Amino acid sequence: MGRYTGPKCRRCRREGHSVCGCKKCALTRRDRPPGMVRWQTKKPSEYAFRLREKQKVKRIYGLLERQFRRFFSMAERAKGNTGENLLVLLERRLDNVLYRAGFGTTRPFARQLVAHGHVTVNGRKVDVASYLVRPGDLVQARREKAVQLFKANHEDTKARNAPSWLEVDGEGAKLKVIGLPKRQEIEDPISEQLIVEIASR
Ligand code: ZN
Repeated sequence: MGRYTGPKCRRCRREGHSVCGCKKCALTRRDRPPGMVRWQTKKPSEYAFRLREKQKVKRIYGLLERQFRRFFSMAERAKGNTGENLLVLLERRLDNVLYRAGFGTTRPFARQLVAHGHVTVNGRKVDVASYLVRPGDLVQARREKAVQLFKANHEDTKARNAPSWLEVDGEGAKLKVIGLPKRQEIEDPISEQLIVEIASR
C-alpha cells in the first residue's frame, strides 16, 4: 500500500499538530500552515473543519485515502460507535503496536521495521504494516539484528509508557497483546465524531 513521501513537516504545519515523529519537528519553529498564502484570517467552513480532522488522523497513523476508506468501512460495519471503532482499528495496526510498545521510535520507523521483514507474529514473518493484531498475539523481533534494534529503540523510548493492552518485554524484544485498545489511552487530540460526520457522507 502507498504512503506519503513528500515533505514531512508540511503536514504537521497544516494540522497544527506534530504527525511526523521527528525529533525536531518544524512545527516548533514555524507554527503556521505551509504555503505562501495567509488563510488564517478566514474562519474555516464546517466542511473544512471536519476535513482537517480526518486528514489529521490519516496522517498520524500514516494512511492515505484508500486505506482510510478501508478502515472506515470496517468501523462502520462493526458493532458500536463508528468513531471509536475506527480508532481501535487504527491502534491495532502492527506498525502502531510496535510504536506504542517502544520498539519503533516513530510510527514511520515502526512501519519500516515491519516492511523490511524484522517482525514475526505468533512465530511467522509478517511484513504488512496494516496487519491487525488480536488479543493473544505474540509479536517478536525476527533474527538477531532485529533483536538488537528493538532493544536499542526500547531503551530510547523508556519514558514512554506502553498502553495497558500490551505486555511489553523490552529485554526479550517481544510483546504480547493482552486486550483491545482503549479510547482513553490515545493521547493525540482527535475528535472522531467529526471524522464520522465527514466520512459517512
Ligand atoms: Zn513535523
